[in-house]
Amino acid sequence: MRDIDPDAENTADHLKAPRPTMENKLLESVALRAGRYLEDLKERRVNPAPEAVRALDAFREPMPDCACAPEQVVAMLDDMGSPATVAMAGPRFFGFVIGGAMPAALAANWLAAAWDQNAGLFVSSPIAAVLEEVSLGWLLDVLALPAGCGGAFVTGATVANFTALAAARHAVLQRAGWDVEAQGLFGAPAVAVVVSEEAHPSLFKSLGMLGMGRERVVRVPVDGQGRMRLDCFPEVSGPAIVCLQAGNVNTGSFDAAGEICRRAHAAGAWVHVDGAFGLWAAASPRYAHLAEGAGDADSWATDAHKWLNVPYDSGLAFVRDPENLRAAMGLTAAYLPQGEHREPSQFVPELSRRARGIEVWAALKGLGRSGLAELIERCCRCAARFAEGLKAAGFEVLNEVVLNQVLVRFGPPEETRRAIAALQVDGTCWCGGTVWQGHTAMRISVSNWATTEADVDRSLEAMVRMATSR
Ligand SMILES: *Cc1c(COP(=O)(O)O)cnc(C)c1O
Repeated sequence: MRDIDPDAENTADHLKAPRPTMENKLLESVALRAGRYLEDLKERRVNPAPEAVRALDAFREPMPDCACAPEQVVAMLDDMGSPATVAMAGPRFFGFVIGGAMPAALAANWLAAAWDQNAGLFVSSPIAAVLEEVSLGWLLDVLALPAGCGGAFVTGATVANFTALAAARHAVLQRAGWDVEAQGLFGAPAVAVVVSEEAHPSLFKSLGMLGMGRERVVRVPVDGQGRMRLDCFPEVSGPAIVCLQAGNVNTGSFDAAGEICRRAHAAGAWVHVDGAFGLWAAASPRYAHLAEGAGDADSWATDAHKWLNVPYDSGLAFVRDPENLRAAMGLTAAYLPQGEHREPSQFVPELSRRARGIEVWAALKGLGRSGLAELIERCCRCAARFAEGLKAAGFEVLNEVVLNQVLVRFGPPEETRRAIAALQVDGTCWCGGTVWQGHTAMRISVSNWATTEADVDRSLEAMVRMATSR
């Protein structure tokens, strides 16, 4: 074996500059363009300028008859496309719950795109399969979920909820003597589904896609923070699925998972947790108490593209007994080569798909346990700073800021709506509106790895300026 001098830079053959082929020059130019984009992101207005959006009309051409050189394709994309992006990846985008793309995850995403792996089978991509397996183990560890859970790398929490609830549907109907994968739902025993009044809209969509109905669910009333009221929790019996929330999208609040799991399990029900962003509280010693008891559930859905800060799209489903996940998602046994390896496609809705585990691995490897905890805590610290600043300026914060979400009201509904619209046009930062228990509010979500206290102060200044000027 050749000696490698660890102090010498770029001694490894594969780090030597590649031959200056056309393809390499193209990729280098893209790296420069992307680097410039990311540099601009720190200072540019968050909402694209109206001129930049209007200029997108240049893309509305008939299907071209002739080829176009790759550099020209990329130049058009960057010249016309980059200015029309919303600076979601930047440090002052606080709309929805978005997250950014950490450097290690973004770079891994590029390399993985060059690899162009089909992550369906071990034989089609050993690297994708191994990194899924490794990162699944790490995720269960940092999210304080039982080791040995099955896991699915999907597009987002909507599909993660769908995937986990398919496993739930399988398990509760199997216990009732019904094979739902083989027979479908026609003639099946009814499955009771209990959700919170405050469940995320996408959860209802997932239930609808599974044939369990968006509207036939039992909705449990919530308290002032959006937590299920235990005194209103229904009696359940027979095949039943109870859906909890770890992290309400408006308030960041958590359902009382331990107590609800105890009651639901006593009645033989399956418990599913939608923890799209909130489940990550478990990765911080400081905030883990919020997710306490969530690990007692039977399945979980979360996002990697939100708080783990990997590029879009990336969601994760976990199921306590991997066999329930495999039963719901596996292809017919005859189709697949049987081997000693975990076959990624046995656990997800898709057969062919991109290798999302690569970026999840890169993010976790890059952060480490302490870096992940720090990321979560920094975002929560920034959210608390927003709440303090807004209160100090005389505005009403509507939620207990327990995590990374802040709800603020700038007066009557029309005043709040006007301030949000003005803030979006101003471009210093971006926040959206919401209606929280009848109150029109602005929602601030801090979930980007790059957001600093200086970004918070600069955004606060803009918020106060917009809310007080007419
Ligand atoms: C964001 C979110 C979802 C949906 O996630 P997608 O990644 O957009 O599919 C579901 N539940 C909660 C609580 C969320 O915050």
